[in-house]
Amino acid sequence: MTELIYQTDSYINEFNATITAVDSETRAVVLDQSAFYPGGGGQPNDTGTLSVDNGTEYPVTKVKKQGADVLHFLGGDEPLPQVGAQVHGQIDWDKRYLLMRTHTAMHVLCGTVFRDYGALVTGGNMEPGKGRMDFEFERLQGELVGEIEAAVNKEAEAGHDVRVKILPREEAFQIPDLIRTKINLLPEGITEVRTVEIVGLDLQADGGTHVKNTSEVGTIKVVNYKSKGAINKRIYIEVV
Ligand SMILES: [Zn+2]
Repeated sequence: MTELIYQTDSYINEFNATITAVDSETRAVVLDQSAFYPGGGGQPNDTGTLSVDNGTEYPVTKVKKQGADVLHFLGGDEPLPQVGAQVHGQIDWDKRYLLMRTHTAMHVLCGTVFRDYGALVTGGNMEPGKGRMDFEFERLQGELVGEIEAAVNKEAEAGHDVRVKILPREEAFQIPDLIRTKINLLPEGITEVRTVEIVGLDLQADGGTHVKNTSEVGTIKVVNYKSKGAINKRIYIEVV
């Protein structure tokens, strides 16, 4: 089982850990704790490096969650470290921090669009610096794009704190904002729910990494929108 450092502190970009399992076929190692985000909820996994005491540094090319473990796939062709080895992990911080700004921008967008137009999010995806979000948003037309862009930038600049909490399932299931974002679809076995709140704007169940205040997001550009039918609309953003 890997302790997920990024769940409680998304600003930790290097850490020490112990290798608890090695799969030589896929060149994957499991650590007792990790700050690497394994991907999910539309946010891609982190990349970076793992170094061992003898000086060998492995590129971490991919990270994936498997049950309670986080698998770190090591590139290169150096012999793999052994179970029990102490390692130092370093995340590619430029990429990760841009993803944090992008992810928080996406939540600013969905909170603002729900507040102003009552439109619900149905899905989304992001890469560093850009993202797309799908809404049930019948009224979305070209002329609303400028209005949405102005509103989301006003919220980003307002400097809302972003708070992360881990709540017991029963408690989370009582919160109206979480019910609206379909928290009831969470699998039965999950006993705790991690929530991300942009104070005063948005609250949702979310596993991703975020900046601690919306003032860190920067400028949000609404770069495009697409009609995916009468109801379903897609909005594309970039953060600069
Ligand atoms: Zn999210």
